[in-house]
Amino acid sequence: MNISTLIKQSPLSLRDTLIVLEHISGFDKNYIFLHQDSLELDNERLKKFNDIVYKIKDGMPLQYAIGKWWFFGHEFFVEPPVLIPRPETEILVEKAIEIVKDCQIGFEPFVGSGIISISLLKYYPHLKIIATDINKKACELTLKNARLHKVEDRILVVCSNIADAIKIEKVDFLVANPPYIPTKSLETLDKSILKYEDIRALDGKEDGLFFYEKLKSFDIKPMIMEIGHDQEYAIKSIFGDVEIIYDYSYKPRVAIVR
Ligand code: GLN
Repeated sequence: MNISTLIKQSPLSLRDTLIVLEHISGFDKNYIFLHQDSLELDNERLKKFNDIVYKIKDGMPLQYAIGKWWFFGHEFFVEPPVLIPRPETEILVEKAIEIVKDCQIGFEPFVGSGIISISLLKYYPHLKIIATDINKKACELTLKNARLHKVEDRILVVCSNIADAIKIEKVDFLVANPPYIPTKSLETLDKSILKYEDIRALDGKEDGLFFYEKLKSFDIKPMIMEIGHDQEYAIKSIFGDVEIIYDYSYKPRVAIVR
């Protein structure tokens, strides 16, 4: 089938259609867009395209349907129910890169797909990280992504609940994107999030602050954490002396305890 006809008939947005086409054809999406009149999709690939479109129309997030996503300029495997990388988390990594440059060992609880640790490990070849997650699938996915990026010999992944986590000592910093959505606000999230993503990666309990209190008890400095856009003052009252970094829409996004 001719790709320009396929693009016209696709029930997805142009952006999503091109991302799916890039995934199944191996051609760059800009190339596909510019050469759509002369490009053809064979039956095997057309079937793959239709299967993915079916999943997306059924409510599956695009990232899970193609099994990968981009974060901080790198490609990562993503698999349900492990949290899909969010673009705002890139600000956390940018800040962490500035802060941890002289550090040797870091700790990342709630590691999820491993995007934060692996981005840091790729940036600093001398760095090592201990990472934990309560979800075994997240731990496995982090290791799979670590192998993809050839940093598996510098990351130790422990499947553990933060509440009774192994005592992590002698690390030089902590970086985390903890669950921070108050339980009562979870129902306002997009249906596809609730259906596919592990809610434990998002649920910050009653007031959304449960895990910040836990992190504080580790007493590791510096601590670089993602926060909810309405949590600036609550975070200040938990940590006292804390620096807040705003995102590109001027919303509080990262808290740094030095
Ligand atoms: N560290 C992962 C991410 O930022 C997962 C975070 C989490 O599970 N809360 O995407």
